[in-house]
Amino acid sequence: MILMENIASEEEMFKFGFELAKRIVCPATIELIGDVGAGKTTITKGIAQGLGVEDEVTSPSFTLSKKYSFPGGNLVHYDFYRLSDPGIMCEDLAENIAEPNTVTVVEWADTVADLLPEGHKKYLIKINDDGTRTIEEL
Ligand code: ADP
Ligand code: MG
Repeated sequence: MILMENIASEEEMFKFGFELAKRIVCPATIELIGDVGAGKTTITKGIAQGLGVEDEVTSPSFTLSKKYSFPGGNLVHYDFYRLSDPGIMCEDLAENIAEPNTVTVVEWADTVADLLPEGHKKYLIKINDDGTRTIEEL
């Protein structure tokens, strides 16, 4: 189902995440799918602010995961880009997914797909020819 079309700016992308956060019920796992530069991390920043995270959210590309606290819970943001073997991260991911007050956001989840809970939210971000983005819920 298409949720949003003609997204032409980073701000609108952020707002999508911000609004999404209001409807999140913990524990929640959110998978963000899309090419490099599609806006996955931008949406995550919006989710974080919507949840009440005060720290700055940055891409976890090198650390693989980053954890932020907000009043009432934690946000854990994973990015498994080009990671062929998630190895030890699997345990960490499974633990966080099982935490009652945790929101888990995953970019490039292909190699950990088996660990994500059944029925988790999946959002596909498409980059259109004109550079705008379309967000679809899968
Ligand atoms: P990803 O995590 O999917 O690789 P990012 O969220 O890091 O992507 O965003 C990549 C870049 O694209 C950022 O510089 C951001 O400003 C820009 N961007 C994000 N969404 C849009 C949009 N809808 N239109 C134009 N630029 C965007
Ligand atoms: Mg990213």
